[in-house]
Parts: sequence; C-alpha cells; structure tokens
Amino acid sequence: MTPKKPFDPAACREEFPLLADPPGGKPMHYLDSAATAQTVAAALRAVRRHETMTRANVLRGVHFLAEAATDAYDQARRAVARYLGVADAEEVIFTGGTTGSINLLAHSFGSLLAEGDEILVSELEHHSNIVPWQMLAERRGVRLRVLPVTEDGRLDLDRLPAHLSARCKLVALTHASNVTGAIADVGRIVETARAVGARVFLDGAQRAPQGPLDLPALGIDFYAFSSHKLYGPTGVGVLWGRRPLLEAMPPFMGGGGMIEQVSFAGTRYAGIPRRFEAGTPPIAEAIGLGAAVGWAGGLDWAGATAHEARLTGRILDGLAGIRGAKVIGPAGLQNRLGVIAFTIDGLHPHDVCQWLDRRNVALRGGHHCAQPLMERFGVAGTTRASIAPYNSDADVDALLAGLDEAVARLA
Ligand code: PMP
Repeated sequence: MTPKKPFDPAACREEFPLLADPPGGKPMHYLDSAATAQTVAAALRAVRRHETMTRANVLRGVHFLAEAATDAYDQARRAVARYLGVADAEEVIFTGGTTGSINLLAHSFGSLLAEGDEILVSELEHHSNIVPWQMLAERRGVRLRVLPVTEDGRLDLDRLPAHLSARCKLVALTHASNVTGAIADVGRIVETARAVGARVFLDGAQRAPQGPLDLPALGIDFYAFSSHKLYGPTGVGVLWGRRPLLEAMPPFMGGGGMIEQVSFAGTRYAGIPRRFEAGTPPIAEAIGLGAAVGWAGGLDWAGATAHEARLTGRILDGLAGIRGAKVIGPAGLQNRLGVIAFTIDGLHPHDVCQWLDRRNVALRGGHHCAQPLMERFGVAGTTRASIAPYNSDADVDALLAGLDEAVARLA
C-alpha cells in the first residue's frame, strides 16, 4: 500500500466545490454534515462521466453502453465492499439510503420472526431505526424492547443484559448517535447479544462517513448507511449483511431485475444482491458513491479524526463559556464524533439557527428525528453543530461568535 498523504484540512476543503467556491462568494460555514455532507468532487466527476459516457440501464442490455454501465455499477459495489472491509461484494446491497436499508431489513428479516420474538432498539435511535421496527411489531406481533441511555447520551450497556432475553432475535442500535455523537462500544454489544443468540444490526449513518470500516471484524451481522452523508450523491445507500443471512431472507420488493425466471406458475428469485434490488437501481448515484468511498478510503483518517476532534473540543469549550448553554452528550472527546447538540436557556433552537444563518453558519435545529431521545432529556429540540473533515477553525470561530451574539441579543 502506498502511504497516505498526511491530512491537510485546507486541501480537503478544496475538494468540495460548494465550500471551495461558495454560492454568493461569501465563506460558507457548513456545520450540518450530520444531516447531509457536502459532495466531493471525485463523486461529481464520476456521476458526470457516467451520464456523459456510460449512461444506460444495468444488468439488462447487451449493447456497449449497457455493459459499460453495468461494469461501472459493479465497480461501485466493489469499492463500497472495500471501504466496509468486506471480501464478498455481493453482500453489499444498494438501497435508497439508511432508511431504505432498515425498511428492507425489517420486512425481509422481520418476515422470518414469530409472534413473541423480540427486537431491541434504544432511546438513542433515529426514527428510521425505530418506526420500521414498530411497524413490524404491529404486523407480526413482535415485541420491541428499548435500551435506555445514560445521562451523557450513551447507550447504557450496563443495562443491556437485563433487556435481552432468549426471544431477542435482533439487536438494532446506532453505531454513532446523530444527536449526542456518542460512538457505541460494538465489542460489548456483540458479546452480550451473542450470549442470547441475537443478531446485531448497526445503523452506520453517522459512523460510516468517518473512515473505512472492517465490518466482519466488528462481529456484527448487518450494517446500513447513506451515501449523502458520506460525501456522495443523495438517493442511494447500502445494506450490508452476512451472505448466509441474506440468502435466507425473502425479497422485500418484487419487480424487474430481482428474478431468475418468472411465470404464472411461479417465480424464482435471483441470488444476492440482485434479489434485493428490484427495478432500475439508482445507477448514477451508486457510481458516485463508489467514487466517494474511493476518496474517503484514501484519506489519512488518523489526521482527519485528530483535526475533527480538535474542532469539536473548541466547540465544547466555547459552549462551556456561553451563559445558559448545555450540551446533550458526552463532555469529553473519547468515543465521540463531532456532532454537538446543545440548548441555550431562553433561546429556541430555530431562532439560534436563523441568527447564525445570517453569518452564513449552517446549523440544524429541532428534534433531529430522535423524539424519544428529546423526551428522555426533557427538551423539545436542540441546536446541533456537526463537524466533517472539511471544516476549519474559521467555521468554529464564526459559530462561537454568532452564538455569543445570539445570546447577547436574543436571550
Ligand atoms: N440513522 C441516523 C443515525 C441518521 O443520522 C440518519 C439521517 N439523519 C438516518 C438514520 C436516516 O438516514 P436517511 O435519511 O439518509 O435514510
């Protein structure tokens, strides 16, 4: 392997056209990457290359363009597999995004469950890792159990054994929280889940954009993430699962592309991954994602993570000095992403976001699709800043100055 170029924050930012050349010419302080990251130039180039040179449907035609498109789509699948540390690229299923992946899992894996079986989620989950399981619970009489979080916004793993029974078939937890930034202790989750024979699914929407993974080594069974948070196009994401588990699962959606043979006497389904990719897939988007993971896989993540941690530390320190500000999440930087949710006494998150928007600081305000977590902390919503490798000290300066100003003027 060629050694990676040491991480250079300014050079990294240059690779994101919207930040390097912001609309309106004013610096863009984009601190909302947990909602959607900016798209890396390599992904834009790959989409353009496909649209202008290889555009056709995949896995269907025999003409030159159809073959070139199919090759590019397959290459994207292999690039994702490499990023996930997965040897068998057919275990990688393209979906519409994390939400699509979890719905696929809830329908397909869920159809194998019996009444009275249990699924464990937590208070920390995004709605997309709650609602599909609730819908499954209604359909099949499966019982949903909920692991609490600690005061500092982490999964309360001390209480995990008490929430698992021999009926638990799936532990479905977030790898990293989109509110508190807490990164889960996967080893402990897997060990405890295995003790009762439960499978483990991790929602990787927030963790996957923070560097390559080794999913088989984590010991989990299923993983999901979205391209648009991983510097790639919108409209595509991934469900990864271990081959024997995927092969035992029935299809979720029926249609073209997912069959071996169709007749009115009966239909034979294709093997994985095609069995789970009914209809024309998001071809250009998957190709863009392939380029995005290629780019992310080549980044010096030790350097990028240190850079992000330093900026996160600056934000946490800055918030500690703001009257009435309170962080929901871990106080330190250990096992924590640069996702920082906070409240400020007397200020509504939307007002904070609007005030900061006037300084070109993009934040998120609201419940972050995590209403049970908001309820747990007794708030209707929070303001959230989230850090990506392309963020700079200037972004943090603008945030902290804007917050000082908002408190002085509005509180
Ligand atoms: N899970 C987590 C932890 C998330 O942060 C998000 C996006 N905010 C999702 C799931 C849903 O992702 P998508 O909307 O891309 O399907």
